[in-house]
Amino acid sequence: MDLKTSVIEAIQKQFSEIFGERFQTNVPLARYTSARVGGPAEMFVIVENATELQTAVELAYAQHIPYFVLGGGSNILVADAGIEGLVIMNKARSVRYRHNGVHVICTAESGMNLSSLARQCIAKGLGGLEWAIGIPGTVGGAVVGNSGAHGGDMSQTLLAATVWEPGRGARIYTNEELRYGYRDSILKREQGRNLARRVVLSAELQLTPEPVDVLMARANAFTSHRKQTQPGGASMGSMFKNPEHYYAGYLIEAAGLKGLKIGGAHISEKHANFFVNDEEATAEDVRALIAEAWNTVREQFGVEMELEVELVGKWEFGE
Ligand SMILES: Cc1cc2nc3c(=O)[nH]c(=O)nc-3n(C[C@H](O)[C@H](O)[C@H](O)COP(=O)(O)OP(=O)(O)OC[C@H]3O[C@@H](n4cnc5c(N)ncnc54)[C@H](O)[C@@H]3O)c2cc1C
Repeated sequence: MDLKTSVIEAIQKQFSEIFGERFQTNVPLARYTSARVGGPAEMFVIVENATELQTAVELAYAQHIPYFVLGGGSNILVADAGIEGLVIMNKARSVRYRHNGVHVICTAESGMNLSSLARQCIAKGLGGLEWAIGIPGTVGGAVVGNSGAHGGDMSQTLLAATVWEPGRGARIYTNEELRYGYRDSILKREQGRNLARRVVLSAELQLTPEPVDVLMARANAFTSHRKQTQPGGASMGSMFKNPEHYYAGYLIEAAGLKGLKIGGAHISEKHANFFVNDEEATAEDVRALIAEAWNTVREQFGVEMELEVELVGKWEFGE
């Protein structure tokens, strides 16, 4: 056995001792992503609370293993060749509430499903998260990507986030320190860079008491708007960010690409910024659609669109 193999085996033994059967190797990731595409994780562990999340990150960091935190897998395109190193599936989901006189502060662990949290808040008569109804994924993914809809977004609701800095420990980031922009934050800007990424452990959200029926009516209106405008099926939501002064979906549609099919994936007829996996598409099929949309829009309108979705794993075109 060579040195590399024996080191990897020692690391796997260490993870197995701590996480038991929740640690596995060579795990197909397609089933953990909303687009239902992507190859295997070399190593895979499920964490069930914030302490386990930080433990997994710290072990990987100490052993120089690349790691990737997987939330709902609804804003990523995983390469067919999979992801090297450790994928940490985040199921840290505890939530607690406290009053501060005027507002209610909800502290949610980062693996909590965002839409379920929004429903929970509505049922309690707490306003501020209705925009999140119907957004798949976790609180952590939304904190990183400043997810939003219907005029609301994470930056308007979040007070602070507790973030694990590998090799250093936990630090509280205020809203300002996260430097939010449109689908952007200081944490999102770390994507694709060769550094140990910071990890969101939990988020503090500021909510305001409001009558349940008012909140319900608002949420129902958002849900029916979503149903009218977005396709069902396996996708990653909006593929590109809206460029300044434009809608990405409009540009792709105007370029004549609605319905374009490559392999098992197609550009939605209902909303051209949604790329749907309908016939066991590969990640490469989706990437080819991305390239086609980006190039055609650039040629026809001179606009260079920016991806909202993150390409992760071993892609052949290099990084
Ligand atoms: C049908 C559909 C509709 C959608 N509608 C919307 C919408 O209206 N508005 C919108 O903004 N988005 C939308 N999205 C996109 C997506 O749901 C959001 O971006 C969501 O917040 C992503 O969260 P996630 O947990 O799935 O993140 P993932 O896809 O799992 O991860 C995304 C990135 O965040 C990182 N990450 C995840 N958790 C953590 C953590 N705890 N700490 C550090 N990094 C972390 C990952 O490593 C990765 O880099 C939609 C997607 C789909 C499929």
